[in-house]
Amino acid sequence: LAVPGEKPRKGKLVVAGVTISSPDKVLWPAAGDRPAITKAELVRFYEMAAERILPHVADRPVSIIRAPEGITGQKFFQRHAMPGSNPRLKLIDVKERKPYIGVVDVGGLVAIGQSGGLELHPWGCKPGDPETPDQITFDLDPDEGLDFDDVISAAKAVKKKLEALGLNPFVKTTGGKGLHVVVPILADAKSRIEWDQCKAFAKAVSERVRAADPDHFTTTLAKKARGGKIFLDYLRNGRMATAVAPWSPRARPGAGIAFPLSWGQVRKGLDPRAFTLHEAEALLKKPDPWKDFRDGAVSLKPALKKVV
Ligand code: ATP
Ligand code: MN
Ligand code: MN
Repeated sequence: LAVPGEKPRKGKLVVAGVTISSPDKVLWPAAGDRPAITKAELVRFYEMAAERILPHVADRPVSIIRAPEGITGQKFFQRHAMPGSNPRLKLIDVKERKPYIGVVDVGGLVAIGQSGGLELHPWGCKPGDPETPDQITFDLDPDEGLDFDDVISAAKAVKKKLEALGLNPFVKTTGGKGLHVVVPILADAKSRIEWDQCKAFAKAVSERVRAADPDHFTTTLAKKARGGKIFLDYLRNGRMATAVAPWSPRARPGAGIAFPLSWGQVRKGLDPRAFTLHEAEALLKKPDPWKDFRDGAVSLKPALKKVV
């Protein structure tokens, strides 16, 4: 890790002002016709994608999945800055614990890549205010053996329910098996809600969606209750809970990224594996379907009254 005041050494790779050690280290090994992805490529991705990532990550506590030896090596969650952590990372105070890692700019993202940080998992809070939720995440987890088309129908059902409550849901891939339906909410003094209300709302909506179609949905955490269903995981919405950030890579085979979609893309045949670090440069040239995410925020209070 770089130390404060460090000058880039000659011949070293420097990205966004961060000196990159072992730039040729393979983080995602080659697979089939897909070439390996190195640390140099990861940090360049963070630099290129910073404008898309930062609105969803900046100034919120963030957990990082680090895999300094690549996805086949040891992986660990890091929440707190460690001695020697890069000075481009900001510390975010939360009331009862050690400060969390925070990112405020492209240098912070690249510093995370430099330390082998492959995944970004922010809280769903308002930037600069860990005690105030500013979004709700419905994490759709399909049972093994389900088709992605089933996840698509499920996401549409959740969308419909949320729209009926006057909310503006957005949708993203996770870089894994499911989808996340994410609702921006207002977090100003008049509209703000508590974390308990946020979780209670997510639970109540999930229960209603399940009750309307119990053959396809479950809200029971136990794996054995899932039998061929989509688990509506509402537990992403408590204080300190995280969800993978839009555009975050995943430390899994395939180098998938959690990709923001337009609802128009969410239809039969969509292949979430089409969104990977290999395609990132091309994907970044397309318009951002989440450009108006924040503008979609409304107060949760009326909807909360209806369902809780
Ligand atoms: P998938 O589509 O494969 O389910 P996912 O990102 O939704 O991908 P989940 O296991 O459903 O994966 O978890 C949802 C979110 O909860 C993650 O994005 C992560 O932020 C958080 N999470 C899950 N497990 C942990 C954990 N052990 N520690 C911290 N956060 C976790
Ligand atoms: Mn999930
Ligand atoms: Mn889950």
